Amino acid sequence: MDIKFLFLKLFWKKLTLIDQENAVKTKNNGCPKCGSPLHVANYDRLPRGGPNFLIDQKILRFSLCCSKAGCRRRVMPPSVRFLGRNIYWGAIFLIASIMKKKLNSLQSKATENIFAISRQTLQRWGHFWKNKFPKSRFWKRSKGLFSEMISVFPKGLFDFYHKFNKSTESTVIALLKFLSDLKLSDFSS
Ligand SMILES: [Zn+2]
Repeated sequence: MDIKFLFLKLFWKKLTLIDQENAVKTKNNGCPKCGSPLHVANYDRLPRGGPNFLIDQKILRFSLCCSKAGCRRRVMPPSVRFLGRNIYWGAIFLIASIMKKKLNSLQSKATENIFAISRQTLQRWGHFWKNKFPKSRFWKRSKGLFSEMISVFPKGLFDFYHKFNKSTESTVIALLKFLSDLKLSDFSS
């Protein structure tokens, strides 16, 4: 897997643009509960695991809030940068989960922040993909979109998207778009 694109600012900019588009689309739809206009209610996050130029950078999580008194519902547009409440970049969560065996050699290059992830965190992510994701409501309602059986996560998803995308970068972006609507409530059952 060629992950050089992770060290280029352009990749992270592309993700920001996708999130901006998602925020505009979500805002245009109005409040899903009462139909009133939505106000911008963005906030800062400090995602972990990015390249050195993103260390300690506050990143805006696009967020919206219903303008109607008495409703004020918070609406989170889908995000390819933040998956649920995970404190790591979604792209890193995904790629590290796919290449966990190769990660040790990457982590030995201590000069780069990317993949500075503890073994416990990687184990937790492994548990999530193996045990929680296949049982999630998100996967139950999404699996019909795939023309083949996928049973290994997230590698099987990556391999599927790779057939339609030439580069690793565009495959990762396609997969992040697919996962962008994943919500914590999808894992409550
Ligand atoms: Zn509302």
